[in-house]
Amino acid sequence: GARVAAPPKPVGGKPTKAFDFSTLPIFEQMRFQEAVGQTLGIGTPFFREIEDRAGALCVIDGEERINFASYDYLGLGGHPDVRRAAVKAAEKWGVSANASRLVGGERPYHGELERALAEAYGVEAAVAMVSGHATNVTTIGAMLGPKDLILMDQLIHNSISEGARLSGAARLTFPHNDFEWVDETLSRVRGRYERVLVVVEGLYSMDGDLPDLARFVEVKARHDAWLMVDEAHAFGVLGETGRGIAELQGVDPKTIEIWMGTLSKTLVSCGGYICGSEALIAYLKHKAPGFVFSVGIPAPVAATATAAVKAMLAEPERVARLRANGLRFRDRAKAAGLDIGLTEGYAVTPVIIGDSPRAVVAADRIFQRGVNALPIIFPAVPEQQARIRFFLTADHTEEQIDRAVDVTAEVVRELEDVDLFASLRG
Ligand code: PMP
Repeated sequence: GARVAAPPKPVGGKPTKAFDFSTLPIFEQMRFQEAVGQTLGIGTPFFREIEDRAGALCVIDGEERINFASYDYLGLGGHPDVRRAAVKAAEKWGVSANASRLVGGERPYHGELERALAEAYGVEAAVAMVSGHATNVTTIGAMLGPKDLILMDQLIHNSISEGARLSGAARLTFPHNDFEWVDETLSRVRGRYERVLVVVEGLYSMDGDLPDLARFVEVKARHDAWLMVDEAHAFGVLGETGRGIAELQGVDPKTIEIWMGTLSKTLVSCGGYICGSEALIAYLKHKAPGFVFSVGIPAPVAATATAAVKAMLAEPERVARLRANGLRFRDRAKAAGLDIGLTEGYAVTPVIIGDSPRAVVAADRIFQRGVNALPIIFPAVPEQQARIRFFLTADHTEEQIDRAVDVTAEVVRELEDVDLFASLRG
C-alpha cells in the first residue's frame, strides 16, 4: 500500500515552519495594521463586543452609542411577533433540523418560509439554506461549469465571486452598473460559451446605489443569458412594501432567472435563499452540495424569518420610515459638505474620507463621540476611497441621524489639514 510520509519533527520543541500558522501572510498584515493603529493612537474597530442593544442604540465598552453597523433594516429584531415565533418554534422543534432535508425529511417550517418568500417575490418557488454566503457559493457553483461564462459587477459580493471560481466557468467583471459593457462584450463572445450568467446586486452595500434592472433584463434576454440578482441589502429596503428592486423599478420579477437574498439582514435571522422557477429550485434541492450535503435550517431560524416576512408586508410604514431615514441622512450629509459618493439614500450611505489610515482615525473619533459606524478600507475599496459606512434602519430617530451627521462633519473638518504620520517624520 501507499506509504504516508511522517510529519517533520518539531525542532527544539518549537513547531516547524509548515506547522506554525502564525507565519501565514494574514498575520503579517494584522501586525502591520496593529502597528499603524498604535502609531495613530487608536484601537481596532473590528470585533467589538456589543454588550447590549435596544432599537438603534447599542452598548460598547459600557457606553451607549448610536449604532450604524446593524443590518436590522426594518427594526424587526425587536418585533414581538418575530420574537415569539422563534420561542414557539424552539419549544416545539428544538434548535437542530438534525439532518439534510433530502434524507432527514422536510419540516413544516421549511415549507412555510419558502412559500412566504416565493409569494413575496411573486415567483413559483424558493429554497432556504443555512448561510447566505454559502447559498451564493453553492448555487453558482452548481449552476455553471467550465463551458460557461459568468459576468459580475466589479462591486459584487465576495460570495458571488467565490461561487464563480468554484464553478470553473470563465469569469469577467464589468464596470459598475455598466449594462452597455455587458451588451458589447456578449456581442463579441457569446458564441464561445454554452451558458452565460450575469450577476448584479439589488442595492450595493459599499456605495448604496442600484443597477438599472430593466436594462440588464433587456440585455441578458437579447443575448440568451441568465440574470441573477443578490438582494441581501435590497429585500425589505426597496419598493413600497420592501419586496426589492423589482418592486421599486417596476420590473416583472419572473423575467429574472435567479433571485437571491439572505435571512440575516431585514429578516433578522440566519441563512440564505434562492427564489425562481419550480425547475430552478428543484435543481438546487437535488444538486447544490451546500443544500444536499448540509443540514436544513433550524426551526427558530426559519420561524423568525417567516414571521419577519409577514411583519414586513403587514407594516409597510417600517419601509417608509427606513426610506425617510435614509434620505434624511443622505441629504444632511450632502448639505454638510461630506462626500457621499454614489448613494441613492436607501439603507446604506458611505462617507468617503480618503486614504485608509484617515478613515480609521475618523471612525475612531466618531466612535469616541458616541456613534458606531465602521471604516471600510483598502483592499475592500480603492485606496483613496476609504470610507465610513452608515447603515440606516427604521429604528433610527431624526435626532440620532442629525447627531451622527454633525459628529462626522466635525471630525472630517478636524482632520482636514492634519498630517497623521507627522510623529514618524520627526
Ligand atoms: N450577499 C451580499 C451582497 C452580502 O452583503 C452578504 C453579507 N453581507 C451576503 C451575500 C452573505 O450573507 P450572510 O451574511 O447572510 O451569509
